[in-house]
Amino acid sequence: MTLAEPLDATAPAPTGGPTLPQERRLATAIPGPRSSELLARKSAAVARGVGHAAPVHVVAAGGGVIVDADGNSLIDLGSGIAVTSVGNSNPRVVDAVSRQLDAFTHTCFTIAPYDGYVSVAEALNRLTPGDHVKRSALFNSGAEAVENAVKIARRATRKQAVVAFDHAYHGRTNLTMGLTAKNIPYKHGFGPFAPEVYRAPLSYPYRDGGLSGADAAARAILQIEKQVGAENLAALIIEPIQGEGGFIVPAEGFLPALAEWARANDVVFIADEVQTGFGRTGAMFAMEHEGVVPDLVVTAKGIAGGLPLAAVTGRAEIMDASDPGGLGGTYGGNPLACAAALAAIDAYEEDGLVERAGALGELLLGRLAELQASDPRIGDVRGRGAMVAMELVDPVTGDPDAALTAAVAAHAIAHGVVVLTCGTYGNVIRFLPPLTISDELLLEGLGVVADGLAASMEVSA
Ligand SMILES: *Cc1c(COP(=O)(O)O)cnc(C)c1O
Repeated sequence: MTLAEPLDATAPAPTGGPTLPQERRLATAIPGPRSSELLARKSAAVARGVGHAAPVHVVAAGGGVIVDADGNSLIDLGSGIAVTSVGNSNPRVVDAVSRQLDAFTHTCFTIAPYDGYVSVAEALNRLTPGDHVKRSALFNSGAEAVENAVKIARRATRKQAVVAFDHAYHGRTNLTMGLTAKNIPYKHGFGPFAPEVYRAPLSYPYRDGGLSGADAAARAILQIEKQVGAENLAALIIEPIQGEGGFIVPAEGFLPALAEWARANDVVFIADEVQTGFGRTGAMFAMEHEGVVPDLVVTAKGIAGGLPLAAVTGRAEIMDASDPGGLGGTYGGNPLACAAALAAIDAYEEDGLVERAGALGELLLGRLAELQASDPRIGDVRGRGAMVAMELVDPVTGDPDAALTAAVAAHAIAHGVVVLTCGTYGNVIRFLPPLTISDELLLEGLGVVADGLAASMEVSA
């Protein structure tokens, strides 16, 4: 392999956006020489705890492709973890942020307010489930918004305990680590965690013997009543489909039963829609699939086309219980991020992306079901809309196969397709394509994953 020329600092910046050819193109091995160079600098400069899934040096991205410094073009089936759902460098987002850059970059909303923040709050109040009176507050990250949802629920109920569920992921700050279920890598060695956090059993149809939603909810509620007590419980927090935990879709009826119990017991029902929100599952919010109206909805990831923004939206009486000055932060609802969010929301609503997520889901589920029919290592295929996964297992014992999962993901990345893994047992390959991706590009990406499964068959045979 030839040594890379150093990147020319005077050359024009590479242009991303949807004009980038939407193709998989391999110019070098992955990582190529320039990517390897960056990764060497990364390990010398960046803390080891900050990992990376794909060993590439990104110089441009657009729509559904990521281009690296060696000239490789990779199909993006992860969207930066369901963030660039409107496509990378979506032109609506780029235009809106550019205009905002020319106007002003920051005032701190809690010092001098501006339209973008209020407009995002109005949009969230309109779009989230339920037609009750709502308020919103904006933050920088999903974890920060989850923390604030818990603060808001405690202040409103004057109770302290919080229940999260098995396999949950809510973030990496202290309180959200406590809410998160998985030890390695998220919690290991980072304790002690915040008190008054309790865990309840989930509905996990593939692994709980097909317990009905109603029975799984009754099991969770009994445990909560016996081990915590509704009179101590401020909030239940749950992802409508678990993200990092393995794209677990609970059995029908589980979420509505929990929401109903919470309502009857003065417990705030918090939907963590950070990964599932903004069209991802074929509805604007995933709780809509079962008609559940949460008291508070936490959003982030897909909200702003790649700029950091997060929100808590909910019932006015709960949201307004916090005293003035109790919520906020220096950057929360930054004007650039708000401009991006308004543009991204226009894209979801006006470019038909929510419907597109449904169509992508049919394509994904159909293709993966075909693969599963001839490959018993694919134990389960599940998901909604463009949030779909396959769980890989030992075909004889049904035990999770994390090694196979890692091998298939590594094969895909080496052949120019970015896919992510997840799951408590590390044995789930998840698909989160941008909602703007073409059928052809998605199918080509899935073909490479299928090749990865076939290749690891030969190895183990
Ligand atoms: C990613 C994620 C978070 C944390 O969001 P950050 O922006 O990474 O802090 C919280 N909840 C869910 C469901 C997530 O997927």
